[in-house]
Amino acid sequence: MGAYINKVLENIKKASQPTFLQAATEVLHSIEPILRADKRYEQHSILERLVVPEKVTQFRIVWIDDKGKAQTNLGYRVQFSSALGPYKGGLRFHPSVNLDVLKFLGFEQIFKNSLTGLMIGGGKGGSDFDPKGKSEGEIMRFCQAFMLELSKIIGANTDVPAGDIGVGGREIGYMFGAYKKLTNLFDGTLTGKGLKWGGSLARTEATGYGCVYFADEMLKKAKDSLEGKVCSVSGSGNVAIYTIEKLAAFGAKAVTISDSSGFVYDKEGIDLELLKEIKEVKRGRVSDYAKAKKGAEFVSVDKYKKGTNGVWSVKCDGAFPSATENELNLADIKTLYKNGCRFVAEGANMPSSLESINFMLAQKDFHFAPAKAANAGGVATSQLEMQQNAGMAQWSFEEVDKKLHNIMKDIFHNSYETAKEFKHSGNLVVGSNIAGFRKVAEAMLEHGYC
Ligand code: GLU
Repeated sequence: MGAYINKVLENIKKASQPTFLQAATEVLHSIEPILRADKRYEQHSILERLVVPEKVTQFRIVWIDDKGKAQTNLGYRVQFSSALGPYKGGLRFHPSVNLDVLKFLGFEQIFKNSLTGLMIGGGKGGSDFDPKGKSEGEIMRFCQAFMLELSKIIGANTDVPAGDIGVGGREIGYMFGAYKKLTNLFDGTLTGKGLKWGGSLARTEATGYGCVYFADEMLKKAKDSLEGKVCSVSGSGNVAIYTIEKLAAFGAKAVTISDSSGFVYDKEGIDLELLKEIKEVKRGRVSDYAKAKKGAEFVSVDKYKKGTNGVWSVKCDGAFPSATENELNLADIKTLYKNGCRFVAEGANMPSSLESINFMLAQKDFHFAPAKAANAGGVATSQLEMQQNAGMAQWSFEEVDKKLHNIMKDIFHNSYETAKEFKHSGNLVVGSNIAGFRKVAEAMLEHGYC
């Protein structure tokens, strides 16, 4: 079976897409037990088909900046798999966006979306546009120009984009406004919408809340709990903010936040109201938090030990990487472990490198909640938004939150039991990848060669 997996990975290597290769390597190696047990997947070339997106669209975006000058960016939509439903996945606006990054994110999304148990395929899109430092008008004009092309390939039953890094409620609003004008439709084609025009309550909170629900379930299984735990959180966006909020509700304390300029350590616990004011209202940086909060310390990136992420040097019981991919490497996890950290729950997509994942899985006293299981709450709630839109309804916060909580519990138990079934007890990487893969692969078999 190793030979089959290596052959598929060899083909990916030819494309020189290292981030996608990293994601595919993690998934393909971890599903080896099911490929060995069920030969139909190899017989019907499931892996060869699964690693190739069904459709990739790349387009030019031209928008006018505040000086009246035309600016050009690249836009993409990777429609990876529609085996389980309409393509579903966020849009990322960040200078690092390219096809490699979007293929990694789209590929992860297939399995994550499958794990939610809901009817959604996998996709991802975005642009290399950098929202940092742009005026309100520039953001609006960019979103409108982006939608000019994207609107041609999306639809409530075809492909339903949402937010990701650099795309929040404001950007979804501008894109929805443009979509409506271009298509003459008011439907559930985008999720993460505003509450007055089709958005779902609890969608904003869902990824962070879901990640904490998952961690709670994982610790409960180990006869432990979040109560009294000191936690390190990276990032300071939507995922980090609502992870911190839910951690507090479970009696845990988050002591760090970070962004691309550095991290903040607040040993008293991050003041959520202040953080929300700085990030959601003023759109500021984490250094502004340290300036406003007595006792909080800001450490800039140039002070980090070479090859490490400073935020992981803080002593904690558990870590919630909630910023971006490859932000927690082998040196970081060794430091965390040495300092007493005994669990990691991934709020971001693929924040841990392959080496750091292998290190975590090798420790008998460590619990690792992989991204595609732990952060699936965001996209799951997006699907709840699609359900509400299809029925022209709006559910209460409590109703959505309860559904989210149940979905996260189900994802944990499904991943845990699947790992056990394939003789990898406790290994949630194997469990979640196999559980996610099995459903997609079975649908592909039933659909015939397409
Ligand atoms: N960008 C989020 C993710 O990585 C959410 C996607 C969605 O809601 O469609 O899962």
